[in-house]
Amino acid sequence: MSASPASGPPPQIPPSPSTPPPTALRQRLAELRGPAVAPQPMDARALAALAANPGCRRRALLDGAGVNKAVLAQALGSPSAFGQSQFAFMRGNAFEAKVKADGGAELMRLLYGQLGGPDEPDPATVRTPDLAAAGPQGRAARTALALREATEAGAQAGAWTFLDHPMLALEVAGSPAYLEPDAVVVAPDGRWTVVEIKSFPMIDAAADAAKVGAAARQSAVYVLALERVAGHTTGASVHDRVLLVCPKDFSNLPTASVVDVRKQLSVTRRQLTRLTRIEDIAAELPEGTTFDPELPAEELTAAVERVEAAYAPECLSACELAFHCRDRSREAGAVEALGRGVRGELGGLRTVDAVLSAARGESGDPTDPTVSALRRAAELRAEALNGAAC
Ligand code: SF4
Repeated sequence: MSASPASGPPPQIPPSPSTPPPTALRQRLAELRGPAVAPQPMDARALAALAANPGCRRRALLDGAGVNKAVLAQALGSPSAFGQSQFAFMRGNAFEAKVKADGGAELMRLLYGQLGGPDEPDPATVRTPDLAAAGPQGRAARTALALREATEAGAQAGAWTFLDHPMLALEVAGSPAYLEPDAVVVAPDGRWTVVEIKSFPMIDAAADAAKVGAAARQSAVYVLALERVAGHTTGASVHDRVLLVCPKDFSNLPTASVVDVRKQLSVTRRQLTRLTRIEDIAAELPEGTTFDPELPAEELTAAVERVEAAYAPECLSACELAFHCRDRSREAGAVEALGRGVRGELGGLRTVDAVLSAARGESGDPTDPTVSALRRAAELRAEALNGAAC
């Protein structure tokens, strides 16, 4: 494989599709983070989790402000159970390097084997453009240009292009997020395909469904960001199937499968448009509010509690603040802590106390179907307990 030729005048890098937030908002977000705290960039995993719980203003604001939620959870006294061991991290990096070795020869072979294409990629002619640029905005602009050039090279010369760690920009709730897929391949017919490389095994051609689901949600965010660039590129289209590359069985050999992300794509697209704009959430907070992890725990807790949350048990596998929010939700006796399904069944009853009181006949409208169902359930329970006692 060869690097793409670097001849002729330097390319004109088009502006990034996402613009930075205005200065006043940037300053406000920096205040919220804390004066000496560097922003934590939002990645596709965080964005997918945000899209899964669009009603949580707390997460939207903290992510938008670049607050490190793992550090915040620690400072609140409820450390998260998230994180990858150093060993798993190194093993993942080594596997990715193996898949991408020799200019992505193995990766291109896997991709063509799974998805096909106009002509089989010749490792000697696959283009591998340099995507280096200053800062995430510069890298996103460089990637956008490389994608356009790759599409042209495909149309004119039948070339395949392998983009290693491109940078994509996506506006989320009025704030830019920069996302870095493992790879994107541009086929000669102008089709752009996201490639995700994971270190969990694919055994007998099947991987852990929960992990594949998480990878699909993450990839859908990349596809969404790519669509913004493709919309400005003649002849380009973004594949709604992504290539998932994993170790085969218990070996270190790569294998691949195609994951259809159409469902995740439509859910993510819809949910992201439902997010409240970050500046609107920030504007509701009193002047001087900050989530600086150096604050005493009580002050920090008070600051966090000022922003509305939408806890659900699913947070436990998706958000670093889950233990904190779960404790608060339980303290408040909120039925949300029991799960979205239970919450839906209970209609207007919002607390466990209100549910128990209605079931005992002490409160609630007896013509309300939820209240009458609760009372019937309480009667059946009492009968069963009496029967067991006889
Ligand atoms: S854990 Fe808390 S902050 Fe995170 S998504 Fe759930 S409710 Fe929102």
